[in-house]
Amino acid sequence: MEKKQLDWSNLGFGYIETDARFVSAYKDGKWDDGAIVTDANIVLNECAGVFQYAQTIFEGLKAYTTEDGHIVCFRPDLNAARMADSARRLEMPVFPEDRFVEAVVETVKANAAYVPPFGSGATLYIRPYMMGTNPVIGVKPADEYMFRIFVTPVGPYFKGGAKPLTIKVSDFDRAAPHGTGHIKAGLNYAMSLHAIVTAHEEGYAENMYLDPQTRTKVEETGGANFIFITKDNKLVTPKSDSILPSITRRSLVYVAKHYLGMEVEEREVLLEEVKDFAECGLCGTAAVISPVGKIVDHGNEICLPGGMDEMGPVTKKLYDTLTGIQMGRLEAPEGWIKTIL
Ligand SMILES: *Cc1c(COP(=O)(O)O)cnc(C)c1O
Repeated sequence: MEKKQLDWSNLGFGYIETDARFVSAYKDGKWDDGAIVTDANIVLNECAGVFQYAQTIFEGLKAYTTEDGHIVCFRPDLNAARMADSARRLEMPVFPEDRFVEAVVETVKANAAYVPPFGSGATLYIRPYMMGTNPVIGVKPADEYMFRIFVTPVGPYFKGGAKPLTIKVSDFDRAAPHGTGHIKAGLNYAMSLHAIVTAHEEGYAENMYLDPQTRTKVEETGGANFIFITKDNKLVTPKSDSILPSITRRSLVYVAKHYLGMEVEEREVLLEEVKDFAECGLCGTAAVISPVGKIVDHGNEICLPGGMDEMGPVTKKLYDTLTGIQMGRLEAPEGWIKTIL
């Protein structure tokens, strides 16, 4: 297979249209067989449920080339399960989890020429998503749906090393108690846009959202979960029903326990105790871990001891171990790596 001529190391995080995408339709109570198609555009009725009442969910994962030349992706079964949870919460039909994984494999195979080569730092971002497609004007779930997957090559998240970020404690809330914060739904992102644009205008990279009920506990950012390292080398990560269950965070917890022999605490984390941690990071598929150097809470600066120059030593060890597993340098736990080609 001939690779496309792209400047792999200089790709940004943007949309590049590729040759193929997967589409399956749900009608009369069942999913069709699905197929790989070439048309990147979708024609829908003006009254489709997705346009009127935002009935749409998505997932995000990556395919990449390992050191020994295979194309793989990381724990797609967990994306399938999470998308099923998202679908149930928005009264959408579940796209069967085994077929989700097969469709990811098929879509990546059909776009193998776009999977960046090993060593470029770039990856193929995979975006499964689903939406209500038939006209809906009374507020109710749609009867017809489309499940699709497109892919787009994306560049290395950090060019020239990961610099610690400065973030702010947000005055906006991301997710209500008993709301939809734990599912990957477009609606959670629509309402976070004003908060992130405002934070960027003020010079911050991200928002730290607190629990809306008491505003004393750390939840997450708009698109990544928090991990903290204590001064005595424990991994602490916030536990809350309104946090999106990050697959990266769950994998890091496993790596900390089983590869690095660290103690892990998944519990409520008070904003008040953040000043006592040694390191802080944001975790998600895009960057794996982005280090945080400073958290600004209404003028009060919480500076993590690691400073603003580089990732803290424990965060770095977690990062190196997880990316080592992903790239095939370290042995992966059973079922973590799905070989595509
Ligand atoms: C997708 C997402 C994450 C990260 O999840 P991963 O599975 O690790 O990519 C974290 N928080 C939110 C709100 C998200 O939407």
